[in-house]
Amino acid sequence: MDSMGRYASKLRVSVTDRCNFRCDFCMPKEPVWIPRDEVLSFEEITRVATVLAQMGVTKVRVSGGEPLVRRDVEDLVGMLRGVPGIRAVSMTTNGALLKEKASALRAKGLSTITVSLHSLKPQLYHELTGTHDMFSRVMEGIKEAKRVGFAPIKVNCVVTKGCNEDEILDFATFAHDGGFTVRFIEYMPFDGTKLWDQERVVSGEEIIRRIEKRYELVPLEREHGSTAAHYRFRDNSEGEVGVITSMTKPFCSDCDRIRLKADGKIVPCLFSMSEFDLKPLLRIGASDSELSNFLRESFWLKSEGVESMLKDHTELKRIRPMYTIGG
Ligand code: SAM
Ligand code: SF4
Repeated sequence: MDSMGRYASKLRVSVTDRCNFRCDFCMPKEPVWIPRDEVLSFEEITRVATVLAQMGVTKVRVSGGEPLVRRDVEDLVGMLRGVPGIRAVSMTTNGALLKEKASALRAKGLSTITVSLHSLKPQLYHELTGTHDMFSRVMEGIKEAKRVGFAPIKVNCVVTKGCNEDEILDFATFAHDGGFTVRFIEYMPFDGTKLWDQERVVSGEEIIRRIEKRYELVPLEREHGSTAAHYRFRDNSEGEVGVITSMTKPFCSDCDRIRLKADGKIVPCLFSMSEFDLKPLLRIGASDSELSNFLRESFWLKSEGVESMLKDHTELKRIRPMYTIGG
């Protein structure tokens, strides 16, 4: 529990900071990678998850950088699934390697998959992600994930003003016709290129307003601790749309996440500078109770979040680029 009475029930773990993409809202042009020997092993990550599960964490999301570029990451999924108390393991991926990996991930027990897709136009997609031929590969990856039984597949789309905002309705149709859960994410100030500006944020409210010009939506009950508001289509199509309103309606007051970076640093809040290095303890053979004390003390210091910064009109800082933390 933190000092404001919020409990951690979800762990988000970045398994690598490396990535085969260069999305301009996430990566700097010349990223500085964590040295390999400082990246936690699968055993170390599983140990942290085991201790956290004893303290009440029940869900783990595997992210990155790009989690699928970490060799044999499906084995980590299997190890996390085996942790007593962990009920679900999910993953957020750019999807480039999903065609090859979907079946192994499913076999190892991955519960759900989220694929980031920021444009349905191949050329813009390639511009945004700094890639050349990935659009069709990602679409094939999504198809394969569906074929091996992931359902529903979530699709994350970061919306930026003047860039892909004209595709909001196309994405809604993609959700409606394809049975996907498309979640539009408000652009956050965690870009590596320092392009972020409040003016470039398209609010969740505006996104829903635009979708409602074509589709009648029915709001669904918000999940505890989620910054996403989800809607189904009134015509009962299988798809859903959602907005992740981290900037305009953050719901920090019931945030239930704790984050572990690839180098073993614990980050209680995405919007705070504070990080707590667990790796030295892990690597000197600390006991479970020493680890849990460290985790408890770190999480206790979780900051109030972006909500209080917005209220106080504090300038939003670029604290760390997204690729170092996993979203
Ligand atoms: N590489 C994987 C991917 O792209 O899905 C996982 C890591 S990525 C950092 C996790 C999520 O953060 C992705 O859905 C990505 O689109 C999102 N993201 C990255 N930069 C962002 C930003 N500046 N604002 C909002 N979301 C961002
Ligand atoms: Fe890589 Fe994901 Fe960041 Fe894009 S958003 S650069 S795919 S980590």
